Amino acid sequence: MTRQGWTIAVTLALAVGAAVSHLATRGDEAPVTIGVRFADVGFRSPRLGGALDAVDIAAIQATAREEIVRAFGDLRVRITDDPRSRYQIRIVPQVLDRRLARETNVAGQSRGMAGFGGYGEVSFIFAAASAVAYAEDWRTRAEIVAAIGRGLGRSAVHELAHQMLPRAPLHASRDRLSYEFYSAARPEQYYGALRWDTAWPLLEQRLGRSSLALAARK
Ligand SMILES: [Zn+2]
Repeated sequence: MTRQGWTIAVTLALAVGAAVSHLATRGDEAPVTIGVRFADVGFRSPRLGGALDAVDIAAIQATAREEIVRAFGDLRVRITDDPRSRYQIRIVPQVLDRRLARETNVAGQSRGMAGFGGYGEVSFIFAAASAVAYAEDWRTRAEIVAAIGRGLGRSAVHELAHQMLPRAPLHASRDRLSYEFYSAARPEQYYGALRWDTAWPLLEQRLGRSSLALAARK
C-alpha cells in the first residue's frame, strides 16, 4: 500500500472505532438529572379550615413529585433532590416577575441555556390560592390539598420544559390541557388531566427514551 493508502486506512479504522464505541456507550450514558427541592412554605384559607399542617405539606410535596415523574418518566432522566442537578426546580413561597413595572405574582419562572441546564422556581402561594379559587363547592379539603400538589408539579413540569428547550415556542400551544399552555390560571391545571403537546417530540429528541420505556414498547 502506498503511504497515502496507509493514511486513509488508519483514518478510516479510527473513525469506525470511534463510531462503534459511541454506539456501545450510548445505552449506558448516565441519565440527565432533574433536581426538585422544596423551601419552607405555608398557606391558610377559610376554605381549608385554616392553615395547611405538616401532613398536608408532605402530601403536597409527594403529589407534586408524582406529577413530575409522570411527565418525564419515559425519558432518560433521574429525578432527585440534588441541588447540583442539570435541571433544577425549587418550590418557593412566591415568585415575582420583576420585568413588569408593577411586581406581579407569577406561577413560576426559569432560565435555561440550551444543552447546559437551567434553574427555575415555582410559586407555592400561586398554586395554593388557585386550587382554592377553582374548587367547586362540593370539593373536600383533601381534594383541594391534592390539587395544590398537582398544580405545583405541573408548573414545575412547564418550567423544566422551558429549561430543557429554551428556544422552543412552548406558549404557542393552544391546548388548554397541555403542560405547554402559557397560563397556570386555569382549572384544568389543578383538577383536570394534562398531557404533552408540541414539546414531547423535542424532549424525546433531546433526552432520549428511558430503557424501561423502550423495554415496555417491545
Ligand atoms: Zn412558560
